[in-house]
Amino acid sequence: MRAGHISDKRVKKIICWASPGCHDNCGLLATVENGRLIDIRGNKDYFTGPVQGCGDRRPHFMKWLYSPNQLMYPLKRAGGRGENKWEKISWDQALDEIAQKLERLKAEYGAETLAVNEGTYRSDMFGIRSRFLNLFGNPSNVGGPGTVCMCNKFQMRYALTGPCSVGASLSRQLKCWVLDGYNMTQSVRTTWNNLIESRRKEIKLIVIDPRRTEVAKQADLWLQIRPGTDSALFLAWLNVIITENLYDKDFVNSWTVGFDQLRERVDEYTPEQVAEITWVPADLIRQSARMYAENNPATIEWGCATDQIGVNSMRVEHAKICLRAITGNYGRDGGEVLRGPGPVLNGNMAIRDSMLQLEEQCTPEQRNKQLGSDRFKLMTWPGYELANEAYKRTYGIPMSMSGHNFMSPQPLIWRAILSEKPYPIKAMITWTSNPLLNAANTKLVYEALKSPNLELHVVHEHFMTPTALLADYVLPAASKLEQPACTSYEDFEQDIRCGERAVEPLGERKTNYEFFRELSKRLGFGEHFPWETDEDLADYRLAPVGLTHKDAANQTCPVAGEPWTYETINPTTGKPTGFATPSGKIELSSTILEKLGYDPLPYYQEPPESPVSTPEIAKEFPLILITGGNFRPMFHSENRHFGMGTREQQPDPLMEIHPDTAQKLNITDGDWVCIETKRGAIKQKSRLTEDIHPRVVNVQSHWWFPEQPAQEPFLHGLWQSNANVLTMDDPDICDPISGGWCLRALLCKVYKP
Ligand code: SF4
Repeated sequence: MRAGHISDKRVKKIICWASPGCHDNCGLLATVENGRLIDIRGNKDYFTGPVQGCGDRRPHFMKWLYSPNQLMYPLKRAGGRGENKWEKISWDQALDEIAQKLERLKAEYGAETLAVNEGTYRSDMFGIRSRFLNLFGNPSNVGGPGTVCMCNKFQMRYALTGPCSVGASLSRQLKCWVLDGYNMTQSVRTTWNNLIESRRKEIKLIVIDPRRTEVAKQADLWLQIRPGTDSALFLAWLNVIITENLYDKDFVNSWTVGFDQLRERVDEYTPEQVAEITWVPADLIRQSARMYAENNPATIEWGCATDQIGVNSMRVEHAKICLRAITGNYGRDGGEVLRGPGPVLNGNMAIRDSMLQLEEQCTPEQRNKQLGSDRFKLMTWPGYELANEAYKRTYGIPMSMSGHNFMSPQPLIWRAILSEKPYPIKAMITWTSNPLLNAANTKLVYEALKSPNLELHVVHEHFMTPTALLADYVLPAASKLEQPACTSYEDFEQDIRCGERAVEPLGERKTNYEFFRELSKRLGFGEHFPWETDEDLADYRLAPVGLTHKDAANQTCPVAGEPWTYETINPTTGKPTGFATPSGKIELSSTILEKLGYDPLPYYQEPPESPVSTPEIAKEFPLILITGGNFRPMFHSENRHFGMGTREQQPDPLMEIHPDTAQKLNITDGDWVCIETKRGAIKQKSRLTEDIHPRVVNVQSHWWFPEQPAQEPFLHGLWQSNANVLTMDDPDICDPISGGWCLRALLCKVYKP
C-alpha cells in the first residue's frame, strides 16, 4: 500500500452457489480490499450448520475469478462457426444487433421461433427470464438439463401434492434417511458433513445405488440396484408396507385419494418378482421397506440419478410420493418438509419468482405452440395450467414457471432447428448453460448449433466453452461473486436467502438481469423492467415484508415466515388449507395425470435399452452404462481450466469398472480405454474398483479440455471424453410425461484402443 493511501477492507456475507460454487449454498465470508477479493472462508454462523465452505473448490475462487481465461467483453463472430475468429464489440452494438435480428425473425416466423437454453443455477433470474419470454410472446420454448435434473420430479410433486416438498436431512427429528442414487459427499458435501458431524449414528440410513459410494459405505442397508429399475423397487416397498399393514391409516383416510387403486396396482409387485427385475434380493427389499416404514419421521431425499433414466423417471417419483404419503411423512418435522409460498411477515408476502413472470401475457394460441406441449404434457403448458389452477385457488398466487417445473424437452429443440418442424427455431439464447456438454446426443446438438437454420445464437457466459465457440455473439456474464443473491430458489423454497455481491463485475461483464433488461428495452418492453440494478430488484422483492436487501444480506439466516403445513388454517374459510391439488388431498391416483391422458398410478417399465428389452444389442454391448453423476472438484462442465486449482486435483476423466470385468477385458488400472455405445465412442482412464457392480460401468460426464485447440475440429477436446456422445435422446425413448432422456441405464462395451 502506498504511503498516505487508506485501504478499504471489508468482510462481506455472501452465499456460494453456481458458479464458481455448487448447489450446496454455503454461507461464506468474502474479504475484499480496495475492490479486490483477497480471502474467502466459511461463515460458521450460517443457519445450515457449523460446516460451511468446502476445501476443494472454495480456496480456489480467487484464481477462478481472476483467471486470464474469463470473458471480459462482448465478442461477435468474425469467421465461420467454430473457426474461433472474433471481433471485440461494445455491449450497445451487440444488444442493438441482437434485438434487430430478433425483431426480424419474430416478424417472419412468429415469436415462437426463439428458444432459450439454460442450465446451472448461476443466478436467480428465472422469473425474469419468464417475464422476458412472456412479453416477447414466446410460448416458453425453454430447454435445459433441468428436465432430467430435479425439475421433472418437482412438477410431479406439484401435480400430486400441491406444495413442493424437500427432505429434512438437517432436522433433529429425522429417524430414517433414504438416498436413492444420491452421493451427497460429491454433490452437497457440506450438507452431508453437517449431518454426519451431529447425527449419523442416530439415523437409519438406506442407500440405493449400483455403486458402493462413500454414503453407501456408511449405510445400514445398501441395495445394489440394477440401473433404471428404481420404480419397481419402490412399488415393491409399497407392496410390503401395505400388505404388512405398516402404513399410517389415519393420514391415508384423511389426506389421500386413490389408496384402493394403489393397493390393487402394487399387488403385481411382490418382492420376489421385483428381485428378478432389480437384482436386489427379496429379503433385502422386505427389510428395507420395513426399516423405512417403522422409523418415522423418514425422508426419501431427492438425488437426481433417477431423473436421468428415460421412460421410468417420473414413475420413480410417483412411487416415492405414494410411499411418503402412506407412511404419513408429509408435513412432519424430520419427514418431508412442505414448502408453501412465502415468506409471509405481518400478513404480507415477499415477491416470489412466480409474481415476476407475467404468465398471463402468453396467449392461449401461443401456449399451444410450446415445443412438447402436445406430447410431454406435465412440464409444459397443459400440465402447468392444471396444477396452477389448484395452486392459485389454494394460495392466491400463480405457480412458478421457472425451469424447475416447466420446460420444453431439449431433444425437441434440436430437432426443430434441423427439421424446421413443427415450425422453425431460428434464434437461441443460451445463458447459464453449455449444451454441447450437458445435453444428450452431442452429435445432434452439434449439428443443430452449426446449422444455418439457426440464424442467431447468443451465449451469455463466463468462459469460451465449446458451445460458445459455435455462437454468433458471446457476451461476458458476471459470476455469483459479482452479483448479489436474493433467491427463493425458483420458488421451491418458502423463504428467501440473501447475500451481498463480493466484488463489482470485472471488465465489461453484466449480470443475467442486466442482460434481459437491456434486451427488453431494445425490444420495446423495457418499462416492465424498471429496476436499475440487481439490488433494486431485490429491494422490490423484499419491500412487502418491510426489509431491504442490505438488511437481509447481513443476516445469517433467510427471510422466513411461519412454516406452512396442510393443516394451516385458511383465514377466509376457517378450514385447513389442505394440499393444493384438485381434490385438496395427496393424489396417489392422480387426476391431473389422468386428464392429461396418462396412467394415474405408478408402474415400472423396462428401460428402452437393456439386456431384457434389447437382448440383440446386449450381445455386442454387454455392460450397463451410467453417466451424469457429480464428482468433485468439478461441477457439471465447469472448473476444467488448468491454473484455477481444480483441474490440478483431477486432470483426467475416469471410468469406474469392477476388477473382475477389467481382467476379462485385459484392462489394468490407469489404462486409457474406449467406451462405446450404439451412438458413438469416447476415451477415459480406467479406475478399477470393487465398489461397482461387475456388469455396470460408470463414466464421468461433462469432460472437455480447455488446453486443447479451440478451433474445429477440436472445440477444446469436445469429442474426446464427453459422456453425452454415448447417451440417447430419441423422443420415443424419453419419459412420456416429462420428455426426460437417458443418461443412465444404457448398454455399452469397453475395450483398449
Ligand atoms: S461446497 Fe464449496 S463450492 Fe459448494 S457451495 Fe459450499 S463452498 Fe461453494
